[in-house]
Order: sequence, then C-alpha cells, then structure tokens
Amino acid sequence: MIHRRDELRASKIMQQRAKDNPKIEFLWNNVVSDIKGDNKVSTVLVKDIKRGGERSISAGGLFVAIGHEPNTSIFEGQLEMDDKKYVVLKDLTRTSVEGVFAAGDVHDHRYRQAVTAAGFGCMAAIDVERWLSERKRKTGK
Ligand SMILES: Cc1cc2nc3c(=O)[nH]c(=O)nc-3n(C[C@H](O)[C@H](O)[C@H](O)COP(=O)(O)OP(=O)(O)OC[C@H]3O[C@@H](n4cnc5c(N)ncnc54)[C@H](O)[C@@H]3O)c2cc1C
Repeated sequence: MIHRRDELRASKIMQQRAKDNPKIEFLWNNVVSDIKGDNKVSTVLVKDIKRGGERSISAGGLFVAIGHEPNTSIFEGQLEMDDKKYVVLKDLTRTSVEGVFAAGDVHDHRYRQAVTAAGFGCMAAIDVERWLSERKRKTGK
C-alpha cells in the first residue's frame, strides 16, 4: 500500500486489519511516479517524497483509491451542485429540478456509508411516491 502521508484517515479498526495482514506492506510518504508494462502492469515506480529517490516494485496490478469524487458528471448543467460536485438537496431528497430526487453518495459528503445511502434511498422512494400522488391529485395524470 503506497500512501503519500505517514498515517491513514481510515477507521482505527480497518487500519489495524490492514496492518495485521502479513500480505500487506505499507510504503509511507511515497507516491506512484510511473507505471510500466506491456499491455499489463509489470512495474510500479514509487517516489519517496520525504527522503527523495525513486525505486521500482514488481507488480501484476495496481488499484487506485484516492480521495472522494462524487460520480455526478452526467448531471452537470442539469442539477444544481456544490463546488465539490455534490448534488445540492433542497428539501430532504428534492433536487433543484422538480420531480428529480437524489439519495446516497451523490449528495452526501459527510457520512458516505452504505447504511446512510440506503436510508436516503428509502426517503427518496417515499418522496417520489408522494410527489407522484400529489401530481395525480392535481392534474389527474
Ligand atoms: C472501499 C470502500 C469501502 C467501503 N466500506 C464501507 C463500509 O464498511 N460500510 C459502509 O457503510 N459503507 C462503506 N463504503 C461506502 C458505501 O459503499 C457507499 O456509501 C454506498 O455504496 C453508497 O451507495 P450509493 O447507492 O449512493 O452509491 P453506489 O453504491 O456507488 O451505487 C451507484 C450505482 O450507480 C451506478 N451508476 C453509476 N453511473 C451510472 C450511470 N451513468 N448510469 C447508470 N448507473 C450508473 C453504479 O454502477 C452503481 O451501481 C465503502 C466504500 C468504498 C469505496
């Protein structure tokens, strides 16, 4: 595990699980500077950002997991978003567009958990159902 700082932000219990795993080696204060290979990864070059210097590690693959970027690009220009590209909710699960509701990691920059996403999913479903019923009552459609 290559990490640019000398500590992780993950929960203590998850950190401990990774640290206790004999198959995981931590490279602190390092960043990936290049990936080499012919059609598939064979070598990863890493740079020590504190001490300087670069070294290569043989690897058959590389998983990139850094930061949080909400997957909202398809809604750009359609739904109001904040400066970090999270969908802005107006009233619980309503978005800036009438009849469009949002739930989960697209709007939740604070908790970003499966259980909160599922809860918001339930809220959005109830709000959609109420919105449809109200529309039918008003317009007959
Ligand atoms: C490594 C990792 C570990 C985690 N561990 C935990 C944990 O221990 N406990 C916990 O509670 N949470 C955990 N989470 C967070 C949790 O996974 C998320 O908060 C949750 O999945 C958010 O649910 P969601 O429905 O909002 O989004 P997602 O689960 O991301 O669902 C979005 C869905 O939309 C689909 N989609 C995307 N774009 C399109 C498109 N253009 N058209 C159609 N479909 C599309 C995707 O394929 C996906 O199925 C973890 C997340 C990660 C990345």
